[in-house]
Amino acid sequence: MAISQSYKQPTAEGYYGKFGGAYIPEMLHRNVEELQTRYLEIMGEAAFQQEFKELLRDYVGRPTPLYYAKRLSEQHGTRIFMKREDLCHTGAHKVNNTVGQILMALRLGKKRIIAETGAGQHGVATATVCALKGLECIVYMGEKDIERQAPNVARMKMLGATVIPATSGSKTLKDATNEAIRDWINNPSDTHYIIGSVVGPHPYPDMVARFQSVISEEVRWQLKEKVGTELPTAVIACVGGGSNAAGAYYHFLDEPSVQIVAVEAAGHGVNSGLSAATTALGREGVLHGSRSLVMQTTDGQVVEPHSISAGLDYPGIGPMHAHLFDSGRGTFLSVTDEDALQSAFKFARLEGIIPALESSHAIAALSQLKFKTDDVVVINLSGRGDKDLGTYMKAMGVAGNEVTG
Ligand SMILES: *Cc1c(COP(=O)(O)O)cnc(C)c1O
Repeated sequence: MAISQSYKQPTAEGYYGKFGGAYIPEMLHRNVEELQTRYLEIMGEAAFQQEFKELLRDYVGRPTPLYYAKRLSEQHGTRIFMKREDLCHTGAHKVNNTVGQILMALRLGKKRIIAETGAGQHGVATATVCALKGLECIVYMGEKDIERQAPNVARMKMLGATVIPATSGSKTLKDATNEAIRDWINNPSDTHYIIGSVVGPHPYPDMVARFQSVISEEVRWQLKEKVGTELPTAVIACVGGGSNAAGAYYHFLDEPSVQIVAVEAAGHGVNSGLSAATTALGREGVLHGSRSLVMQTTDGQVVEPHSISAGLDYPGIGPMHAHLFDSGRGTFLSVTDEDALQSAFKFARLEGIIPALESSHAIAALSQLKFKTDDVVVINLSGRGDKDLGTYMKAMGVAGNEVTG
């Protein structure tokens, strides 16, 4: 196995250091192999690139602004810029990837799209692009999550998707993933599986990272315009599976002067038993088709994670990030539910922007870092907080004075 020369570029077999690869059932080999052999060639076609860029511009609303957060900067004594992925169509970065993958599916001649979703954000982004292109869309979702995320289920249905409940196990994301894989095995020729993060068997982590890399591509020229240099001091992003982070880091990974900061969800505290801080708690293992760090028991059973934010509530991490952690290239921090919540309220009042709870973890990590006045810090604001209003309302009702004080 060749050693990957670059932090952003996996080997031909999909390895970032010792993480990645494609650990899949025999029945999926043909599908995954077709994708492995064709994705780079298809993404390299001028017509593909043109259609992708046009949709990102006219449909998603790119480039998203790079916003100088003046009041937040004053509080932290440095220069802080927010990359506004919250302003993307559907309210988060996920649509960058689903737009790319729907174009990939069409080039591969697929007629039917399947996806899995936890909180429903990836399901909504997938249902959106299926409506755009008139493709059949089936979204697998844990029965428990369907109850908890009613507004997103309604959105998917309104967009024409069929939402199928996963009724086995804990009736959450990992069970929905199992159902989606089962579907793919049963429909090998006409179906494309749109995975929503930089996880899964090779080539998904690399393909999704490339689709999301538009984020850091824009940050480079936007910083050049605003501060006269393309390279920030640090880039900070929250990590669930790691797709918004991969996109925000991508064009800085091989620039050693840029500090890469990944923020995981500590839940009630890293050692509380209710956490999703994978790099702190996980061990090497195989989850959803790739070798990575996984939260697991001593006998290898996947541990049910916990985070207040559904998007970070995942027991693994993409192989690129596992390698960034393992090699020391990335700085990995974690933020508790409570600190993320406090930070969301503070940020809303400082900047007039209500962040997604996931993104709020990245903002909260500022207080664990030290920067100089002249430093340039970029925080990826992965999504907007509308979807989290229920949680925010509960926080205001239960502990209004503390969280707003
Ligand atoms: C899904 C989601 C995340 C987490 O997913 P990544 O693949 O780690 O980016 C983060 N922020 C928002 C707003 C999300 O919807």
